[in-house]
Amino acid sequence: MITHDFGVVAALADRVAVMYAGRIVEEGQAAAIMSAPLHPYTQALVAASLLRAGTAGTLEAIAGMSGPHATTGCRFLPRCPVAVAKGLSRRCAGEEPRMVRGAGDRWLRCWSDQREAAAPAPQSGAIAGKPSAAAIAAPPLVVVRDVVKTYDVGGLFWHARLIRSLDKVSFSIGAGEAVGLVGESGSGKSTLARMLLRLAPMDGGQVTVAGQDIAHLSAAAARRYH
Ligand code: SF4
Repeated sequence: MITHDFGVVAALADRVAVMYAGRIVEEGQAAAIMSAPLHPYTQALVAASLLRAGTAGTLEAIAGMSGPHATTGCRFLPRCPVAVAKGLSRRCAGEEPRMVRGAGDRWLRCWSDQREAAAPAPQSGAIAGKPSAAAIAAPPLVVVRDVVKTYDVGGLFWHARLIRSLDKVSFSIGAGEAVGLVGESGSGKSTLARMLLRLAPMDGGQVTVAGQDIAHLSAAAARRYH
């Protein structure tokens, strides 16, 4: 399930992955994320959802816009109130936090909460290698590993301007499990959906369904897949 609406996710998903600027920034059980979001972006999305509006009476807007981001540091920094409040701006600008595991099945990419930094790093840049509860019980049905998609948005003369819409996105889905992918427009959700449906090629990474690499299906298998 791919949406910008946390209310839909709360009603239907077992787990949630929150995307910002082509990266997954937080992932975990849907109920836990809704009740206690940890990443500042997730907190803003939850505060902006109708679920919270029901108690507070108003929707909160997220300051700023998702747009071109720096190639170093945290991509959410220009919009992040926590970096300033906690005196982390310099660190956040200098180095992008990696995804680290917190309590339970919770993963977070933020310098404000790196208490579990000593936990084993994911296999790659995003959330690879962290099986969900369902995936622990059985091999995951869908495995998305380090998926990359880059668009050339043009530029003057030979200066091509490349935008990385997906930057090493990884997650897994167990059989019978519902996973919600949440983020604003431009976060990479729809691009990822197109990759999963084989409607557009990946520039890197791999997606397997029931152990089969979807990039190398036979014509007959591709028809069944669709
Ligand atoms: S790493 Fe820094 S800028 Fe990024 S979300 Fe966390 S506190 Fe904010």
